[in-house]
Amino acid sequence: MTAPEPPPVDQLTRAQYTGWACVWCGKTLWRGAASAGISRGQSGAHVLDSEVYECAPPCGKRPSA
Ligand SMILES: [Zn+2]
Repeated sequence: MTAPEPPPVDQLTRAQYTGWACVWCGKTLWRGAASAGISRGQSGAHVLDSEVYECAPPCGKRPSA
């Protein structure tokens, strides 16, 4: 099984970027969250890569890889 690549940082809400919300459906995460991989981003010289999370897998809105 290949996990889909999360969207880039600039397409995420702040909640998704900080790991408070599911990266696929945007729901707030309380428990059962799982790592969805690394969202990539860059702002000038700053690398903004961040681990992002999804609701209890598989998230219903997760795209199939
Ligand atoms: Zn979700």
